[in-house]
Amino acid sequence: MDKSLYIVIPCYNEQEVLPITSGMFLEKLESLIAKGLCSEQSKILFVNDGSKDDTWQIIQNLAKSNDRFVGLTLSRNRGHQNALLAGLMWAKDRCDVTISIDCDGQDDVNAMDEFLKNYHEGCHVVYGVRSKRDTDTFFKRFTAEGFYKFMEMMGAQTVFNHADYRLMSKQALEGLAQFKEVNLFLRGLVPMVGYKSTAVYYERHERIAGESHYPFSKMLNLALNGITSLSVKPLRYITGLGFVMSLVSFVVVIYAVFTHFFGTTVTGWTSLVGIMGFIGGIQLLCLGIIGEYIGKIYSETKQRPRYIIEKTTVDDENK
Ligand code: UDP
Ligand code: MG
Repeated sequence: MDKSLYIVIPCYNEQEVLPITSGMFLEKLESLIAKGLCSEQSKILFVNDGSKDDTWQIIQNLAKSNDRFVGLTLSRNRGHQNALLAGLMWAKDRCDVTISIDCDGQDDVNAMDEFLKNYHEGCHVVYGVRSKRDTDTFFKRFTAEGFYKFMEMMGAQTVFNHADYRLMSKQALEGLAQFKEVNLFLRGLVPMVGYKSTAVYYERHERIAGESHYPFSKMLNLALNGITSLSVKPLRYITGLGFVMSLVSFVVVIYAVFTHFFGTTVTGWTSLVGIMGFIGGIQLLCLGIIGEYIGKIYSETKQRPRYIIEKTTVDDENK
């Protein structure tokens, strides 16, 4: 088969994991080539996302030892989504199809065969979907599933239980390149690109080594970011809430006027203070949500670069 594949892998502080998983990826790529699912020109592309440890050193050594490995390093840590985008956009000009995967060995590389088969049958996007979450802790599983449900409720459509393990054809990547937003949430953007897509199910393993970079706080951040980047539904909910609240206060005012004229004036103001506090709270919450969107507008209008590639292991093709 003459289609070249780039496996794109973002890495942040992964010095413990890389030496183990790089061999695993290489073995997989060789077997895909041997099976004729992709061409001899296929590569494994590591994106070093401004790691503070020896990750970049390890990537450079890998690239020296075997030219199936290539690497690029970003000028500083830009986060998983931006690092992945940097890799995908760089790969887009050099290959026919990409598969993105985390470098910690959690995602089953053996699903790639199925990914490529679907690609050869005409799919432009193949989503890797976790069939179960047995290896995650109860807390992680609970928060992650809550994350998808909440996102969907808020109008951010994502593929359930799919992280960023996916195949994208050159054409789909070119579509993705036209999305210029700075607040990046690939899981929500890729379905918006369109094209024929499908899902492949796989089992997710435990992290081979090192620690997750997505503790609860970061995950909450990702959810908030995902929602406010993809949908304006929360703003509509606020309008609805405002409407309901004004209806309620209208009824309360009528009641107050009624009791005033019929002499049964309420003496206690506790309830009043309670209601005022409640309304104040709701207002603050709504302002906060609107503020989130204004913040988004602010960063989008600045049009700052989403990543800057500092160096690559392919010398002649710098940047
Ligand atoms: N990652 C990255 N930049 C970051 C954080 C993470 O490139 O700022 C990479 C990380 O090296 C890994 C992937 O993103 O390959 C997913 O991270 P992790 O495994 O920590 O997340 P989890 O699987 O726990 O959700
Ligand atoms: Mg992981």
